[in-house]
Order: sequence, then C-alpha cells, then structure tokens
Amino acid sequence: MSRYYLTTPLYYVNAAPHLGHAYTTVIADCLARYHRLKGDGVFFLTGTDEHGQKIEQAAAAAGKAPKEFADSIVPGFKKLWETLHISYDHFIRTTDSYHTDGVRAALEKLFKEGKIYPKTYDGWYCVPDETFCPKPDIENGKPVCPDCHRPIEQIKEKNYFFKLGEYQNWLAGHIEKNDSFIVPKTRRNEVLSFLKDQKLQDLCISRPKARLEWGIEMPSPPFEPGYVTYVWFDALLNYITALGYPDMKNPKWIWPADVHLIGKDILRPHAIYWPVMLKALGLEPPKTVAVHGWWLVEGEKMSKSRGNIVDPHTIVAEYGVDAYRYFLLREVPFGHDGTFSEKAMDKRYNADLANDLGNLLHRTLTMIEKYFGGVVPCYTQSFVGMPADLEKGWDSFDFQKAISGLWAWIDQGNTLIDERKPWVLAKAAAKTEELKAVLGGLADMLRTLAILLWPIMPSTSENIWKQLGCPGKISREKLWAAGASSGQKVQKGRPLFPRRE
Ligand SMILES: [Zn+2]
Repeated sequence: MSRYYLTTPLYYVNAAPHLGHAYTTVIADCLARYHRLKGDGVFFLTGTDEHGQKIEQAAAAAGKAPKEFADSIVPGFKKLWETLHISYDHFIRTTDSYHTDGVRAALEKLFKEGKIYPKTYDGWYCVPDETFCPKPDIENGKPVCPDCHRPIEQIKEKNYFFKLGEYQNWLAGHIEKNDSFIVPKTRRNEVLSFLKDQKLQDLCISRPKARLEWGIEMPSPPFEPGYVTYVWFDALLNYITALGYPDMKNPKWIWPADVHLIGKDILRPHAIYWPVMLKALGLEPPKTVAVHGWWLVEGEKMSKSRGNIVDPHTIVAEYGVDAYRYFLLREVPFGHDGTFSEKAMDKRYNADLANDLGNLLHRTLTMIEKYFGGVVPCYTQSFVGMPADLEKGWDSFDFQKAISGLWAWIDQGNTLIDERKPWVLAKAAAKTEELKAVLGGLADMLRTLAILLWPIMPSTSENIWKQLGCPGKISREKLWAAGASSGQKVQKGRPLFPRRE
C-alpha cells in the first residue's frame, strides 16, 4: 500500500474560519478522499496555530488568557470541518504538549549542532509582522516596513538566530532539480528569483519574554532563560511533531509529506524556512508544496475590516455542502485568484448540478422504472464510451480539468437520451435491445460517476450509488465496466439538486 501524507496549514486562531480556510481544507479533503478510494494509506493533517503576538493581543482584547482564547476559537474550526464533511485524520494544536516537546527537542538539537546562535540585534523592527527590518523603506521621510509599509520602531535586544543563510545554494539547487517541489510553476519561479536576487538572512527564532509571553518557552539550558520561540518556527514543526518527532521510530512516522497545501500568502515560510529547517534537522524536504490563490468577494480581498467575509455556514445552509465543495473546485483554476458571488454559485448550481448531473440521474431512473420495472437491464452493445482521461488532473492539482472531463461525459449521457429517444424505442418491439443498451449503459455511466465524484461530493455520490441500487459502499472495483449495474433494482429518490429560481 502506498502512503499519502497531506497537510493544510495550521490556521491562526486570531479569528473565526472563513471562505479562505474552507477552500484550502476542501481541496485537501478531496485529495485525501481521492487517494483513500485508490487504496492509499492516507494521513490527512490539519489543526491550529495558537502562539504569537497577534493571539496575545486578540486574547487581551477579548479579556481572556491566550490559551482560554484559543480554546474558544478552536471549536469553530472543528464545527466548520464537520459541516463541510472534512475527513481529517488528526487535528493538531500548537499548544498540545507533544508538539511543544517536539519543538523544544528540535531547538536543542539545532543549538547543540551550532545551527542556532545568539546575537544582539540593534535596528528596526515591524511590530505587526513580528519581523526585523534591517533595510527599511523610507516613505514620506519615515522608515516603514518593506513588506507591509507600516511604521516600524527601533529596538536593541539579544536573540537567537537560525543559520538560514548558509543553506541558500542548497535550497536553490533543490528547487531547480525538482520541478514539482513548488507548484504551480509561477510560484516556483517566484521563489527561485527571490533566491537569486537576495541574500538570505539568518532567521531570528526567539522573542524575549519581556516583549512576548505567549509562545513555546525555549529550553534552558542550553538557551538562556526568558525566551519564547518565534511563532513560525514553532508552527512549521507541526508537520513532523504530529508524526511523533523526535521519535522517528514512532509507528506514525511517515516523513516526507507528499503535499503541503497552502495559500500564496504563506509561500515564503513553506518554501524557504521549512525545507531549510528540515535539512538542518537531517530530514528530507516535503515532496510538494502546492500553492493556491485567494478568493476575492466581488473583486475585493476578503477582510474583516471590509466586512465582506462570506461565512461558509451561510452558503452551505443555502446551497448544500456538496454544491459548495463543487463550486470551490470547479470555479477557479488551482493557483489563480477567484471571485466568489452568489450569482456565480447560482449559475453553477443550476447549470452543472441541477440540469446536467441531476437530470441525467432522474431521467435515467424514471425510464428504467417505466420500461423495465425498476431493474437495470442487461445489454450487449454499448453506446456509452468511457473517455480515457477522466482522472487526469488530480495528480497535477488541475481539478478543473478533472471536473470538466466528467462533465463532458455527463453531456454525452444527456445527448444520448435526446438522440436515441428511449420513449420512441419503447414503442417498437424490434428496438428492445437498443433500449436496453441505452438505459443499461447510462446506469453504468452513473455508477462510474458516483465513484469519480465521491472525492468532491461524497454525500451526492453516495446518494446516486443508493438510487442506482448498487450494493455496499462506494468502491473503485469495476470502476468502468459495461453491465456492472445490470440486475440492480433502482430506488429513485428526490432530485439531487432541486432547481433554484
Ligand atoms: Zn511589516
């Protein structure tokens, strides 16, 4: 059995989950289900990132202790994953003790091997980003953060630094040698040109407790007392602490990860810090970092201050969970930005789901009931061909291609009904074999669609499977086989997707 380890980022608990979180996690769930159905040993990890200044501030604003604040946010994530039928295997919180122990073990190892060292920093610092700005930009005569362009302040303090810079050539070489290490290509090129243009600075991985209390305390000794770990250094390590790090003999140990799924805003920590941290720890880099775009709402980036955050629960209550999952995967090519609107959802819902898929099932079952007493007929000559590349797209994150291949097939099914006109065939005894072939073939097609759509729309697929009278659970056995459903007694239910007016 080949194993498949995939992760979402750990979501920062400074606010409730929204469309952006839902998108990453739905993609991850589809991939996990796709691989499970293929028989791979899947480990699907998600969780929450709970340390750092922003959480400390958000907690203070809410009048809560940081851990208490995180405890109040985490159930909102778990509830949304339940609503969206997310089948994660493990939910990690960076406040879990096995994680904090693993982070301390990694820090200790890197310090003892001289890969982390102390240094006094005297210079500019961006408070909201929690980053040092050795070369600030100047705007209106004032120094600002080169990343976020907010005012910065001067600080002088002793900290611990990770020797990121030493690995610059190794990392550039690794990315150049491995086409699929960062996908899509635009993101890969972005990282490569960054590595060519700039000298990688060592990474400050500590914060003095005088400035920030809320973090994983650095182990003392070997570190001086009074420091907590920089939140990114802590959070990234979750991908291995969840597997039992530092115990690599742990039965859960399945490194390297096959896929880290992330949004483009966190490309740098995942494509630069993380592979270097692993290299320094003597571990392999992940196989793929897959980077998706952002969702805009009516053309604007979603944000709390703009008040345009679309609550996934509201949309699911309106359209159903499967329509929501389908929309997220179908509407936007992976890696691009997308625009969310109810108008676009309505369009997809009525055209793709109600008209194309829903009608194909409903018409087929109605006619099997009418002409064959509800039993799927045997047939010899097949009118339904199985296109060769229905599954193309999954391994390259091209979900649009995978889905549009399936919908082209659904169109062929509906066209077959319109052209052969079973209601005309039913009137002539000489046409019985043709009628059997049309309806038996369509039943087999729908059975195959139930299997191939399951990763994206699990409840709908199970519903199709049941209505066709297929026995047991959905499995890829006889994925496409003419006659696989013959003899089954269909159980037509209500339309899968009632049309929205
Ligand atoms: Zn900044």
